[in-house]
Amino acid sequence: MSASAEKFTCQTLLEVHPLTSSLFTLRTTRDPGFRFRAGQFARLGVTKADGSVVWRAYSMVSSPHDEFLEFFSIVVPGGEFTSELNRLGVGDTLLVDRQAFGFLTLDRFIDGRDLWLLGTGTGLAPFLSILQDFEVWERFDNIVLVYSARESRELAYRELIAGLAEREYLAEYAHKLRFIPIVTREKYPGALGSRVTELIESGELEQAAGLRLTPEHSRVMICGNPQMIEDTRALLKTHGMQLSLSRRPGQVAVENYW
Ligand code: FAD
Repeated sequence: MSASAEKFTCQTLLEVHPLTSSLFTLRTTRDPGFRFRAGQFARLGVTKADGSVVWRAYSMVSSPHDEFLEFFSIVVPGGEFTSELNRLGVGDTLLVDRQAFGFLTLDRFIDGRDLWLLGTGTGLAPFLSILQDFEVWERFDNIVLVYSARESRELAYRELIAGLAEREYLAEYAHKLRFIPIVTREKYPGALGSRVTELIESGELEQAAGLRLTPEHSRVMICGNPQMIEDTRALLKTHGMQLSLSRRPGQVAVENYW
């Protein structure tokens, strides 16, 4: 069967940038028919030496209006997918499922004034897509991007985040964004130094943002490490904040990466 008749398309790697030995970013061509909402993920496939294909979910970093697709990846030692992905270079082929998936999108929330985006590690990815799309800037008065990594060199996309304010179409909105980096395993100037949950419990996160976490005003998206998500959700529940479901709109939306 030809690729065009398949559930996936074949895309070409345009750029690969290692950040550390276990983190890298990659950019591919994009099929013009591939549509997604900011915050969604694609299923990516790599072909192994024996001809079999391994598939994994990956959030788009790029925005729905970019002509390319960008992803931010971990390398799991011995990981079936990432060991293969890590071997690919510019010009190689990546398979991309024709359909995008996922509910970590702004339509999870019907209202809200302050949007909190809490990501650990590669869980930053969907938030970059959301921040590069216009809708979020119009809908919310305040946007707090909280990005936690173990070491400062693992803080990816710092230039992109700092550059949002310089984008012409965001000029009048850029003041809405507060960026709060967290580095947990070393001291790093300008970053908070504890886990997200501890920072919520101690009130430090609210203090850094200059905003309170309240069911009335806050809408919270959490992405990345499942344990962090579970613990944060439990904590937010004590603040009166619930998971947002189609039948019962709430204040919290999550995406577990494993
Ligand atoms: P796997 O066998 O899949 O995983 C082995 C173990 O590695 C896991 O049990 C877990 O302990 C750890 N692990 C897996 N993924 C990560 C991760 N991202 N960060 C830290 N530890 C991890 N991964 C990305 O790198 N970038 C993304 O944008 C991304 N988006 C995802 C979106 C969704 C909806 C889901 C469900 C997962 C996403 N993942 C993402 C994880 C990804 O699908 C794979 O799990 C990852 O590529 C590792 O694949 P693997 O076969 O090498 O190892």
